[in-house]
Amino acid sequence: MDTPLDSASTPAYDDVRTTPRALATEAVHAGRDDLARQGLHAPPIDLSTTYPSYDSRAEAARIDAFATDGAELDGTPVYGRLGNPTVARFETALARLEGTEAAVAFASGMAALSAVLLVRSAMGLRHVVAVRPLYGCSDHLLTAGLLGTEVTWTDPAGVADALRPDTGLVMVETPANPTLAEVDLRAVAHACGSVPLLVDNTFATPVLQRPAEHGARLVLHSATKYLGGHGDVMAGVVACDEELAGRLRQVRFATGGVLHPLAGYLLLRGLSTLPVRVRAASATAAELAARLADDPRVARVHYPSIGGAMVSFEVHGDPHAVIGGVGLITPAVSLGSVDTLIQHPASISHRIVDADDRRGAGVGDRLLRMSVGLEDVEDLWADLDRALGERPGAPPVKGLHEAMS
Ligand SMILES: *Cc1c(COP(=O)(O)O)cnc(C)c1O
Repeated sequence: MDTPLDSASTPAYDDVRTTPRALATEAVHAGRDDLARQGLHAPPIDLSTTYPSYDSRAEAARIDAFATDGAELDGTPVYGRLGNPTVARFETALARLEGTEAAVAFASGMAALSAVLLVRSAMGLRHVVAVRPLYGCSDHLLTAGLLGTEVTWTDPAGVADALRPDTGLVMVETPANPTLAEVDLRAVAHACGSVPLLVDNTFATPVLQRPAEHGARLVLHSATKYLGGHGDVMAGVVACDEELAGRLRQVRFATGGVLHPLAGYLLLRGLSTLPVRVRAASATAAELAARLADDPRVARVHYPSIGGAMVSFEVHGDPHAVIGGVGLITPAVSLGSVDTLIQHPASISHRIVDADDRRGAGVGDRLLRMSVGLEDVEDLWADLDRALGERPGAPPVKGLHEAMS
């Protein structure tokens, strides 16, 4: 079966695909290398759910092949749940950015994590070793054993001892949601031995950290966050080697958590500005983290050594008053958008985690998590400064007490 793109095999095209390119270049070109030769500039959006084929013998062979190894189908697509060309462009691009052979996209970050757990438990490897904190819903999925898995929680130094013959996965998040605690990926990958290490790279993005370079076999993203980057797409993706990608595609086909092609289009567009968005927001976040660290109303600031656009901080006063007091900043869960969001993890993102487990993982009741966007740093600081309320020992602001009573 011919692909519509015969020029895919021309020397110039092969050159582009094999010459190593910098991250900023990949961000705008990966997944689009065939476009110019097709006479296109923006990638097409293919909304088809099904595709015509006059050769059902050939289709039978292709479906058999997919059932064997889950490799992406050659030639024209068959059915939307088996694969979509627009989504495939995003997968190609993300794999390039993470430095993996493949990537498999899902309807959300949680659908992506579920698929990984199902792939491993289908092999009889139902035990998971995980390091807290994780995103609240990931913690919940493992703790509740909703997919028939069993979890052992440990710290990074305890990973090797926690492994069992039926351990199918080791899972860490770094910087972690919401404390921004960092894990030494090389050390943990070493401790895992032959058990695949899954790193949730949602907070760092491939701009700041490529876990596969440090030995992770699976790199998970809630693409809802920085990859989409504009708060208007829900998606998840796993970057990994082709062998695991095949299993993930088979689970995606069987369970149906596919990404919509429009979301695939928006994600590919989001990737093209990912490096500039992450770097600009990180510079602002570092400045805000420094100002918060100097502020007497703030007890503690968490900011990762690798940088990033997330800042978490513990206040001396009432964290709910800060959430209620922001104006420019939006009080909302989620992160990674062009605008700044703040939320109280103990009330929202990590509410579903048992209170003792949550506190044990360093998620205190006075902790606030802020996702810094692309606004001007002085406007953001003015808003935060107002929301944090009166400075201790500062002369009372005239009229404030009357206004609040
Ligand atoms: C949001 C988030 C998830 C879950 O992703 P969804 O797209 O909301 O399903 C997983 N991990 C981290 C670190 C997250 O922030």
